[in-house]
Amino acid sequence: MKKKAFITGITGQDGAYLAKFLLEKGYTVYGGYRRTSSPNFWRLEEFDLMKDVELMEVDILDTGNLIRTFSKSEPDEVYNLAAQSFVAVSFEKPVLTGEITAIGATRVLEAIRIVNPKIKFYQASSSEMFGKAQEMPQTEKTPFYPRSPYAVSKLYGHWLTINYRESFNIFGCSGILFNHESPIRGIEFVTRKITDSVARIRKGTQEYFEIGNIDAKRDWGYAKEFVEGMWLMLQQQNPEDYVLATNEAHSVREFIEHAFGHVGVTIQWKGKGPEEYGVDAATSKTRVKVNPKFFRPTEVEVLLGNYEKATRELGWKPRVKFKELVEIMQQRDIERLS
Ligand code: NDP
Ligand code: GDP
Repeated sequence: MKKKAFITGITGQDGAYLAKFLLEKGYTVYGGYRRTSSPNFWRLEEFDLMKDVELMEVDILDTGNLIRTFSKSEPDEVYNLAAQSFVAVSFEKPVLTGEITAIGATRVLEAIRIVNPKIKFYQASSSEMFGKAQEMPQTEKTPFYPRSPYAVSKLYGHWLTINYRESFNIFGCSGILFNHESPIRGIEFVTRKITDSVARIRKGTQEYFEIGNIDAKRDWGYAKEFVEGMWLMLQQQNPEDYVLATNEAHSVREFIEHAFGHVGVTIQWKGKGPEEYGVDAATSKTRVKVNPKFFRPTEVEVLLGNYEKATRELGWKPRVKFKELVEIMQQRDIERLS
């Protein structure tokens, strides 16, 4: 019999990659999307998945809705990817972020507990939970120190997954995923913001772009590879939590330099702190400006993940590292505009 998977957050970056991966594995894939006044399926369309995924309207703010949806679809596995996932917004909408990202996970787990506690559950936890990192690199055992309402909400979902595993014997795994990007990453995240802007500057339709803290460092991996790790977690004998990362940290500054490098532009930095800006070394034209408007009330300066447990137990490891990732994203944004 074909296995059935339900993905909440099907319209997001990971939803599209995971759906594609599971369909290739022979699963029947149900995708939960929330109602909006205009359709939001561009990622599924880009991957040509609209005819293959069984779309179901579901909002993780509504428990009854989740219960009916799981009763109807009868999944073997549920991947809870739905979230208010943008850190910057979480400072402006902390209550909504908690409702969706923290209590939303509770609602999904409750629906599983009521409909069929044998359903395997994946929770999309985040390296943001390490926040003001207490050790380098971070592992599954590193103490948490969340630095935003988003990270606090993710920590709630993380512990609840562990609690439902221990209290109700639910096969729940929490993937502590470090930042993972791709050509279909949301445009508000720094990587896609950069590659989209560089493509526009190259085309001549934009002069420069504004940016926040360019010295923040992240461990950036490739979303396509990370969704495979999510699935592997649910195929193990026992449910556990795993870090997925690349074990390389690079700064936003490096990302900008490398993205421009891909289109033959060398960036020279001038000024300091909030006055810093980057010019094209050949033309002296300003291409990047720091704007404190993009600084966060509390920042996560550096994240670096140790994925040894995932390699040891799941056989998972990242193949695409920083430079190749920037190139993949930059190339696709150039193509989009041509
Ligand atoms: P996205 O922001 O691209 O996708 C989030 C999804 O959640 C969207 O489909 C969104 O729908 C949906 N959603 C939001 N609110 C609700 C709601 N009330 N009911 C139902 N669906 C809702 O995130 P990613 O795909 O990048 O990430 C997937 C998950 O992994 C998220 O939980 C994220 O926080 C987490 N994560 C991501 C990392 C990354 O680097 N990408 C790192 C670590 C964790 P809509 O399209 O309608 O907005
Ligand atoms: P996050 O790690 O989930 O917060 O992912 P983001 O891509 O939103 O941010 C990564 C890092 O880039 C954070 O430290 C941000 O402060 C930093 N950053 C610097 N400038 C920007 C910007 O203009 N937009 C975003 N989103 N982040 C920025």
